Formats: sequence, structure tokens, C-alpha cells
Amino acid sequence: MLKLNSVKVSYGAIEAVKGVSLEVREGEVVTIIGANGAGKSTLLKSIAGLEPIQAGQVLIGGQDCTLVPSHKRVGLGVAMSPEGRGVFADQTVRENLLLGAYTRRGNAGAIEAAIEREFTRFPRLRERQNQLSGTLSGGEQQMLAIARALMSEPKLLLLDEPSLGLAPLVIKDIFAAIRQLRQSGLTILLVEQMARQALGVADRAYVLETGCITLEGSGKALLNDPKVKAAYLGSH
Ligand code: ATP
Repeated sequence: MLKLNSVKVSYGAIEAVKGVSLEVREGEVVTIIGANGAGKSTLLKSIAGLEPIQAGQVLIGGQDCTLVPSHKRVGLGVAMSPEGRGVFADQTVRENLLLGAYTRRGNAGAIEAAIEREFTRFPRLRERQNQLSGTLSGGEQQMLAIARALMSEPKLLLLDEPSLGLAPLVIKDIFAAIRQLRQSGLTILLVEQMARQALGVADRAYVLETGCITLEGSGKALLNDPKVKAAYLGSH
């Protein structure tokens, strides 16, 4: 589904991603954990086509997409829920969802069905469909960001720190939604600082440190890895 070969991304002199190779197979949930500034968001953006890469290759569904612009990657089945949610604050919930379906313009029936599906998945969004998105709670905005990404019917969902800034109970809801998406067979690449929850939901995981992959394994193996425990799981 997704393959990165030695991907490098720089911001001027700063090399944020230093030759990362990884793979996400169909139906897998793969997690990337790492500290602040490790390059996680940059890596996701390079997969979505939002950040150009200086070297390496991005293969989506076996096709070399290194030079393919982001809107065309949506057409190839890649959608991203960005860090900080990125909902359009001055637009209603429904309008945000419609924006997520921009690649499907002209297919009103299918778009309405997709909205209905997301309202069933996140009933709070149905209740608040005419509310301005900027007035939603943080958790509701995160649900909206995920629902908006799902409006394009992606094959691969990129989730950038969906737990960021949310209360523990709301984080639980978000991870429950991720588990449901996984059960429905969706392929997910999840970037998280909440390492315990993220590894718990992951088939496989990578640890990213200052732009390099330093460890990889099953979610379970990394949960039990002493280095991961010491650096990312705290004492409990
Ligand atoms: P966080 O969890 O804090 O979001 P991250 O692992 O997602 O961190 P990135 O946001 O990818 O890390 O940042 C990686 C490095 O690249 C950091 O040193 C950051 O300062 C730098 N960086 C990110 N975006 C830019 C930018 N637009 N211009 C310059 N440097 C940037």
C-alpha cells in the first residue's frame, strides 16, 4: 500500500527526515512514535505530498508518487488528518465534511451517503452539523478532522497526533474510533506521542528519533522493549 525508500526532507539547512524507509501493508495499522521534533509530522506531510522530498522515493499502491502533487495523491486513496486538526473554523461541521469530499464533486448522492456514514460513526457531529467548527470542543474538532479525511474514501488514512491536547476520556474515544476503522479494514499510518495507546492499537510500529528510524517491530514487541519503555512509556 505504502513504501518509503530512503526519504529525506530538509527545511533549509535543517534535515528533519534523514533517509527513512518504511512500509505499510494493506489492512495494517502502523504507528510511528517519537519525541517532539523527531520529524513525525514532516514524514506524514511528505507522504501526503504536502512537503517535497530531497531524496528517496514514495510509492503508493506500487506507483512511484514522489513527484505527484497532493491533490492527485488524494485521488490515489491517501487522506490525512493533520496535526492540530486543521478544521476550517469559520465553516460549519457539514461544510468541513463537504470540503473533505472535494475530489468527488458532481456525485452529490455519494457525498450525502458519506456524510451520513460519518454522522453514524461520530454522532456528536450529527448533533452539531450546523455549528461553526471553531466553536467545537477539541475532541469534537478531532473527530471532524478524521471524518473529513474519510470523506474522500481513502485506502490509506494518515493520522497526525489525534490525541494532541485532549483529555484522557476523549483520547479513549478517539482510539476507540481508530480501532473501529481498523476493524473495517482501513489501512492506517498513525503518528503519536501517546506511545502506549498508539502501540496498543498498532500491528507494527517504528520509532523515529531525530529523523531516523531507530527501532521497528510489532506493536506488542515495542510495548515490551526496554528502550521504548524507558524513553516513551514512562513508569506506569
Ligand atoms: P511534534 O511532535 O512536536 O509535532 P514532529 O516529530 O512531528 O514533532 P516535525 O514537526 O516533523 O517533528 O519537525 C521536525 C524538525 O523539523 C524540527 O526540528 C522542526 O523544528 C523542523 N521543522 C518542521 N517544520 C518546519 C518548517 N516549516 N520550517 C523549518 N523547520 C521546520
